Amino acid sequence: MQFDVVAIGGGFAGLIAANRCAQLGLRVAVLEKETAERYLNNSRYTTGIAHILFQDMRLPGEKLLEVINQGTEGEADPALAKAFADNSRRAIDWLVAEGGKYILVNAPTGKSIMLAPPRRFKQGLDWEGHGADYLLRKLESNLKNRGGRLIRGADAKALAIADGACAGVEAVIGGKLERLDARAVVIADGGFSSNVEMIRRYITPRADRLLIRSAATAMGDGLRMAEAAGAQLCGFGAFYGHPVHRDAITCPADTMLWPFPMIDPLTQAGLVVGPDGRRVADEGRGGIVLANLLAHLDDPLSTSLIFDDLTWTTIARKGPAGNPMILSAGATLHRAYKLAELATLAGVSPEGLTATIGEFNTTIAKGTAASLHPPRTMTPLAARPILHPPFYALPLCSGITATMGGIAIDVDCRALRAGGSVIPGLFAAGSTVAGLEGGKQMAYMGGLSKAFILGLLAAEGVARASGKSART
Ligand SMILES: Cc1cc2nc3c(=O)[nH]c(=O)nc-3n(C[C@H](O)[C@H](O)[C@H](O)COP(=O)(O)OP(=O)(O)OC[C@H]3O[C@@H](n4cnc5c(N)ncnc54)[C@H](O)[C@@H]3O)c2cc1C
Repeated sequence: MQFDVVAIGGGFAGLIAANRCAQLGLRVAVLEKETAERYLNNSRYTTGIAHILFQDMRLPGEKLLEVINQGTEGEADPALAKAFADNSRRAIDWLVAEGGKYILVNAPTGKSIMLAPPRRFKQGLDWEGHGADYLLRKLESNLKNRGGRLIRGADAKALAIADGACAGVEAVIGGKLERLDARAVVIADGGFSSNVEMIRRYITPRADRLLIRSAATAMGDGLRMAEAAGAQLCGFGAFYGHPVHRDAITCPADTMLWPFPMIDPLTQAGLVVGPDGRRVADEGRGGIVLANLLAHLDDPLSTSLIFDDLTWTTIARKGPAGNPMILSAGATLHRAYKLAELATLAGVSPEGLTATIGEFNTTIAKGTAASLHPPRTMTPLAARPILHPPFYALPLCSGITATMGGIAIDVDCRALRAGGSVIPGLFAAGSTVAGLEGGKQMAYMGGLSKAFILGLLAAEGVARASGKSART
């Protein structure tokens, strides 16, 4: 089989790269290891809010670049960050021209794009017929109409390297190892969020105690293949994830506790304590930071979220924040009128919890939350005292949704060696790439924006490298 370009992975990054390549006159195939007609992956599971650091992707490039530089504290690769910001609006317009639809939603950080038809935030996984599913099918049919191929059940195993350049892929297709010759390969396999060994190597030694809060498809094959070809892997440490009810990990087949309820607002309104009853995290920094902090504890399955009835009957009732979804899932929720009694039910030290909450309430009443250990960030959500019985304790775990860091690339999405030289013929896009994240705030660029924008840029890089115009 001979193509100009082969993309590994039929998520948004791979299908966008493939369509744009076909549009630019290249013969293209997408290898997708899953076999179902509507195969599951992170793109199909997505909630569909497309953003750059939670800002509208249609903002002017200069504004988005400012957002990226501020959010990552300057750690994003400057040239890549600029190309990313400058092409954000164009990526959305391109997707609309492909038949994609979106609505505007109010996010805490302003207006954001949500793929349409929008998800209804129903409990558990509820992807069918919603924006991402619709757009994936549209992109597949567009690819077919342009003469490109999406080959299901094609599991890429290794890159074919000749004279230091990538010249194709070896993949198991229908049980047989096949070689696909191509002048360019785009790795778009979605990162390594389902590979416990790689999570242990690149993120936390406690990898086996995290919930894989995503499709089980992102096994890091692209990173492994790129590294074997000499590419630099970098930018690891943090991940995009959320705190999740711990019952989700003890009963992983039951998806009624993720992605919704999404308990981030509840964690920001409560206290996250360890078995000794002491706080373990600055709850005010938000769900992504909390998920990362929990993942690095000696035991990520050791914390409880404490809140009072006022929080449970107000904040937890807003949207999918947990009330009543946690109850309807039959998940553990300890409840008691006395804090010491609650602590005993939750396996937390009664003395420790009572002391922690007493100190917390007094300190925030004085307006000196920064003096707490750990301190409590007061914006965007101020701390609330735990005052109104009954009190609740919810067992927590950390859910990993998408990885940050991966294959080093340049502005054309060409894979780079450690010294910065290009590996001819090898490109990467989507959740498998590095260079756009970083900083103390663990800035999460947006899995969709990385797939949308880098999918386009990779295809245009392939076209340029093949001597074609990237402008058509
Ligand atoms: C529940 C959930 C909610 C989310 N919500 C949002 C959101 O609202 N906003 C946002 O920006 N992001 C969100 N994300 C993240 C975002 O959806 C993903 O980061 C993005 O879709 C990744 O796209 P991708 O194309 O890089 O990878 P994927 O969609 O993971 O696609 C990669 C594909 O490669 C295939 N593959 C892997 N290995 C091989 C191999 N060896 N050979 C062949 N094929 C292979 C996989 O089967 C898969 O189909 C969410 C993710 C989840 C799980």
